[in-house]
Amino acid sequence: MPNELWLRMGSFIIVLIVMMVWEAISPNLTSKVANYKRWSSNFFLAFCGAMTGRLLVPAGLAVVAIFADKQHFGVLNILPIPEWTAITLAVIALDCLIYWQHRVFHRVPLLWRLHRVHHADPHLDASTGLRFHPIEIALSLVIKGGAIMLLGVPVLAILIFEIVLNASAIFNHSNITLPNWLEKPLRKVIVTQAMHRIHHSQVVTETDSNFGFCLSTWDRLFGSYTHEAKAGDHGLTLGLQEYSKESDNTGIGTLLLMPFRKKPRSCAAEKTANRL
Ligand SMILES: [Zn+2]
Repeated sequence: MPNELWLRMGSFIIVLIVMMVWEAISPNLTSKVANYKRWSSNFFLAFCGAMTGRLLVPAGLAVVAIFADKQHFGVLNILPIPEWTAITLAVIALDCLIYWQHRVFHRVPLLWRLHRVHHADPHLDASTGLRFHPIEIALSLVIKGGAIMLLGVPVLAILIFEIVLNASAIFNHSNITLPNWLEKPLRKVIVTQAMHRIHHSQVVTETDSNFGFCLSTWDRLFGSYTHEAKAGDHGLTLGLQEYSKESDNTGIGTLLLMPFRKKPRSCAAEKTANRL
């Protein structure tokens, strides 16, 4: 698939530019921290994550799918179903996997240390959708690789899924508000900005809900859906209370070292240990 990289990069850049222009024209909330400080940290982490992925699987996850196909390994490679049915099922199954992976990263204290780098962003915009610690990216790649083998995911499904996942992350972290007539029906199917902002609230029970990335179905199905934040969409305090100081939530070194520094007792993962 020679055009794979161009398709992924092209769609990523287009969605990022569209959402950042939208945010500039019609922002939902105003950031308390200067955007250039947040953006330099967030985009640098995105760069580190991309490099980690290239080092870990230089040719991408498609190689795992090709290997599974050649070995005739994995559920979808064994079942006698049409190719497009297998692709659709695989994309839906991978989205469900990301939902559970996200939930486990909130539940297990050691994994929360990595994921809190994403949540410590004191504001929410398209760049937050790219702000993940490189070790979280590496673990996620290993998990996805294992799932691709076990499921026998078709190569095309991986390309579709990675484009959809990246676009969803940028879209649902964006600092915009969709009009009610659009947001209400859309949220029944996919994760909207208003739905995902609740997940970035400082209220622990709200942080510990709305884990979905693309389809909103999983939160409704597995009982983790919150329809509205207590403070309302415009009254939300974003980020993590224990990282509310600017020097604690921005800066490249600060974010890279965050998982290795002692976590405060008020950490969301400790407070919500029984919610999984
Ligand atoms: Zn989260």
